[in-house]
Amino acid sequence: MTIRIKKRSTGKNLRTEVEKRAEVDLATCYQCKKCSIGCPVSGLVASPPAEIIRRLQLGAGDELLQTDLVWTCLSCETCYARCPNEINFAGIIDAMRAIALEKGVARPAGNSPLFNRRFLDTVKSYGRAYDLQMIVGYKLGTGKLMDDVEKFPTMLKKGKMAILPPSGADKSKVKRIFNAAKSKGKSR
Ligand code: SF4
Ligand code: SF4
Repeated sequence: MTIRIKKRSTGKNLRTEVEKRAEVDLATCYQCKKCSIGCPVSGLVASPPAEIIRRLQLGAGDELLQTDLVWTCLSCETCYARCPNEINFAGIIDAMRAIALEKGVARPAGNSPLFNRRFLDTVKSYGRAYDLQMIVGYKLGTGKLMDDVEKFPTMLKKGKMAILPPSGADKSKVKRIFNAAKSKGKSR
C-alpha cells in the first residue's frame, strides 16, 4: 500500500474534526484491516477503509476528502461490525461527507447526491424510506427512466418493493432529527 501525504496538509484539523464528529479515537486503530476485508466496495476504491484511517493518522489534509470512498460508501456498517476496537468507520465517512460539503472541497461523484436527496425526501415525508417513490424520483432526475425497469415485476413478486408508502413510523421523531441536523448545519 502506497500512502501519499501532501506536504502542506491540514491534517491535524481534519483528524481532530473527524474524531470529534464521529466520536472515535483513531489512535486505537492498529491496522488489522478487518474493516477493509469486509467492505463490499473496498476493491472498487482508491483507498479502502483501513488506508483512510492510516492516512488520517499520518496527517492527511483536506485532499483526503476527495477520495472516492467518501461518496461510494454504502453505509452498510460492515466495517464497524468487524472492527475489534469498535471504530465506527461508517461514522467517519459520514463526518467526512459533511466536512467535504461544508468546505466545498469535494464534489460528490456521479448521481449519488441525487440518490441521497430522493432517499431523504421519502424519509422526511413518511418517516421511513419509500423505495418506489425514491426510485421514480431518482430516475426522473437522471433521465434514465427505462434502466433496470425489467427487474420491477420480480421485485414486486418477491416482496422486495411495496406499491404503497410505509406507515406506522414516528414522523414527529423523524422531523425532530431532520430539524436537529439542519440546526447543526449537517442538512442539505
Ligand atoms: S478493523 Fe478497526 S482496528 Fe482494524 S484496521 Fe479497521 S478500523 Fe483499524
Ligand atoms: S459502511 Fe462503507 S466503508 Fe464500511 S463496509 Fe460498508 S461500504 Fe465499506
